[in-house]
Amino acid sequence: MRFLPIFLDLQAGPVLLVGAGDLVRAKLRLLLSAGARVRWFAVDGDYESGLDSEAAGRVERAGDPLSADLNGVIAILCAGAGELGETVAARARAAGIPVNVMDDLAHSTFIFPAIVDRGDVVVAVGTGGSSPVVARRVREKIESILPARIGDLAAFIGRWRKPMQARLPEMSARRTFWERIVDGPIGALILSGRESEAEQALRAIENPEAFASERGLVTLVGAGPGDPDLLTIKALRALQDADVIFYDDLVSSEVLDRARRDAARVSVGRRIGKPGIGQDATNALMIAAAREGKRAVRLKGGDSFVFGRGGEEIAALREAGVAYAVIPGVTAGIGAAAQFEVPLTFRKKATRITFLTAHKTHDAEAVDWSLLTDVAMTVVVYMGITAAPAIRAGMLAAGRSPDTPVGVFARVTRPDAKAVVGTLDQLPDLVTQVENGPAILIIGDVVERSLLWRGSDLGRLAASLMEKIQ
Ligand code: SAH
Repeated sequence: MRFLPIFLDLQAGPVLLVGAGDLVRAKLRLLLSAGARVRWFAVDGDYESGLDSEAAGRVERAGDPLSADLNGVIAILCAGAGELGETVAARARAAGIPVNVMDDLAHSTFIFPAIVDRGDVVVAVGTGGSSPVVARRVREKIESILPARIGDLAAFIGRWRKPMQARLPEMSARRTFWERIVDGPIGALILSGRESEAEQALRAIENPEAFASERGLVTLVGAGPGDPDLLTIKALRALQDADVIFYDDLVSSEVLDRARRDAARVSVGRRIGKPGIGQDATNALMIAAAREGKRAVRLKGGDSFVFGRGGEEIAALREAGVAYAVIPGVTAGIGAAAQFEVPLTFRKKATRITFLTAHKTHDAEAVDWSLLTDVAMTVVVYMGITAAPAIRAGMLAAGRSPDTPVGVFARVTRPDAKAVVGTLDQLPDLVTQVENGPAILIIGDVVERSLLWRGSDLGRLAASLMEKIQ
């Protein structure tokens, strides 16, 4: 590291800008938007073009930079100044003022980073001047993972720091207190723009010391159907912050790979044939982890609130008085629809969707099929493989035609995904063709609109993808 990133206080004095052209104007806009006082020496004498009058009004004209008084100037920046750059740089160095000559590392004592600007939170990315393009790519990546309102969170804490200092004189307790605010529900409120609720919640904390000692949190995270790129940005963040992850069997190893390396991983899942540890034991583990002050993630396939028992889990967490948060995921039915291009609704033709589960034949018998008579309703069935014959019987009894299009979509969004389509009448046979589960069934006319229905095999699918890419 040759250049140490530091942040310059623009209130401390003016910045001298020397040069002309578009680049210098871009820098001028940046400096002005950051609140700088700018003295500008435009080598071409053009102080007006490309600037609105308000911006132009906030700029002082500087005299010749080789003779002008540099007293109080905090930094000098030369862009498009030609040979003047070198002499200005020599003068700046002699006077001990930081100087940047654009695209001229040899004469610069500081360089400009790529900037992520979120108000009070600013990230500077540098490559030691070697590649601004790489710096910009890094900046884009950071842009995409930083919550939009992270600056509001910093500003919120800034406002409350002093009052809390009086209530929590001990520094380490104060640090834990703010960590809990940032990572817990109050931070989450600010990040979702609900600042006045956050304010209320903070005011309601009666005993900040006790609050600080309970930093535990359980986050229910929807892992999606398998492809880790389908994780939401929030889910990724929770996985990166986790101390411990309680995951189900349906969670793909690629998703787990995205978690923080040193997070403990505990499998709590059931699998056909293996009972798993059971719901009560899972609840107890989550509660215990949170009470130990850990940040626990409960990671479930798809979405926690779609046949995922998320409702039972939050009820247990509420009852235990443990802080929790819920992050949605792409549910398997939606993943199947996207991957195999089944539009679950279609204007005027498919106007309703039902998500139902029929794990065993007796579950299927408990479904009220008479509610599913409407041909404009798309039916998405979870855990429907074993009960396929009973599902067919139920749908036929509801008056659906045996020719109704159906699709069986197995291991969707995973590398070994497989799908077959056919008619309701063929359903029990279709489910045997996808080999293993998990699989989603989609029943309804919309299945006809999928690529597979048109006799396409994977080759056609690939061809159509290529067409789209081109
Ligand atoms: N909460 C999950 C559903 C859990 S129930 C979700 O929102 O997706 C388990 C059922 O989900 C499986 O029996 C299967 O029907 C479906 N499922 C889960 N992952 C799947 C996948 N990758 N491909 C196809 N079906 C899947």
